[in-house]
Amino acid sequence: MQIPFVDLYAQYLTIKDEIDGAIAKTIHESSYIGGAAVKQFETLFSEYIGLSHVVACANGTDSLEMLLQAMGIGAGDEVIVPAISWISTSEAVSSVGARPVFVDLEPNYYTINPALIEAAITPRTKAIMPVHLYGHPADMEAIMQIAQKHGLRVIEDCAQSHGATINGKKAGTFGDAASFSFYPGKNLGAYGDAGAVATNDEELAKAVRRIANHGQEGKHNHVSEGRNSRLDGLQAAILNVKLPYLASWTHARIRNAALYTELLQGSEVVLPQTREGAQPVYHLYVIRTKDRASLQAKLKAAGVDTAVHYPTALPFMPCYNGHGHTKADFPVAAQYQDEILSIPMYAELTDAAIRYVVEQIKQA
Ligand SMILES: *Cc1c(COP(=O)(O)O)cnc(C)c1O
Repeated sequence: MQIPFVDLYAQYLTIKDEIDGAIAKTIHESSYIGGAAVKQFETLFSEYIGLSHVVACANGTDSLEMLLQAMGIGAGDEVIVPAISWISTSEAVSSVGARPVFVDLEPNYYTINPALIEAAITPRTKAIMPVHLYGHPADMEAIMQIAQKHGLRVIEDCAQSHGATINGKKAGTFGDAASFSFYPGKNLGAYGDAGAVATNDEELAKAVRRIANHGQEGKHNHVSEGRNSRLDGLQAAILNVKLPYLASWTHARIRNAALYTELLQGSEVVLPQTREGAQPVYHLYVIRTKDRASLQAKLKAAGVDTAVHYPTALPFMPCYNGHGHTKADFPVAAQYQDEILSIPMYAELTDAAIRYVVEQIKQA
C-alpha cells in the first residue's frame, strides 16, 4: 500500500467542479489582483476566525513581518519565539531588524513553555510570538498573563492552527493579532502562496494594509514605504471555495488523529498529547521515537511517507550561530528534534490507510 504524506490532489477531486468554475470565472473577469474575491475572502475569514479585521496578503511570512513592522518593532528590539518552529517565525523578527530570543518548549505539547518566558524578558523585549505548532494551541492564558504583566505585544503564529481552540475560543483571538498562512499544504491551503493578518485592532489592521500596498493611503499617496504583499485573485477565489469545507476537513483530521491514537496505544512510540481545554487541529500528527531513522526507513520501504518537522531546532541553525547557543540551553528542543516523526495526516486519509500505517509502525 502506498500512502503519501499529504494528498492535495485527492482533496481537489472532492471539489473539482467548484474550483474549476472559480478559476474560470477569475480568468473571465481578469480579476487577477485585488477585486471582489479578495474582499469576499477577507469578510468570510473574518467571520470564520471571529476577529473584526482581516488583511489578506501574499504569504504567512509576510503577515508575521508586516505585523511586527506595524507594531513599530525594529532595530534594538527583542521578540520571544519558541525554539522549534518553521524558520519564518524567527526570520520575520530578524527581517524587521529585531532579535529573535528563543525559549524552549513545554514538554509534551511542542509549544513555547510559559514558565521559561519571564527569564527571557529584558528591557528590550517588545513582543511574544507563540506558535500553535502542529495545530496544538500554545498555552495562551499563561502567555497573555505574562504579556500583560510586562506590557508586551502578542502575535500568534497560526500558520498551522486554523480553527484550533482553547476552551472553545479560537487560537488567534487571544493576542493582539494573528498571522495565517494558506500555503497549499496548510489546513486551509491555496494553490500557491497566500496569507492573512487577523485582528480586532483597527489601527493595526490599517497599518498592515498600508504596508502591504506600498505604503499607500489612497492611490499614489505613499505616506510611508511599504512593499508588495498582495493576495492574488485566483488564490482568493480558490480560498473562497475551500473555506466552507474547512470545518468538515478539520473534523476529519481530528477523527483521523483519534484513530491513530487509539490504534497506537501500547506501541513503543510516544503519542501526541493534548493540554486540558485545548482542541488541536492536527496540521501534523507527530510521534516520537529514539529510533527515528530506522522507523522512517522501514515505513518508507512499506510505502508510507513520513517527514520531520523540524530536524534542527531554530537556535541550532547555522544562521543563528551568532547567538552562541548550545543544546544545554534548550534541552527539550534538543531532545525532540532527534525523536519527532510526522506520519501521514490529511482529511481524506482512509481508515484502511491509517490501520496500515499503524500496523507498519507496530511491526517496525
Ligand atoms: C508555514 C508557516 C509559516 C509561513 O507561511 P508561508 O505562507 O509559507 O510564508 C510561518 N510559521 C509557521 C509556523 C508555518 O508553519
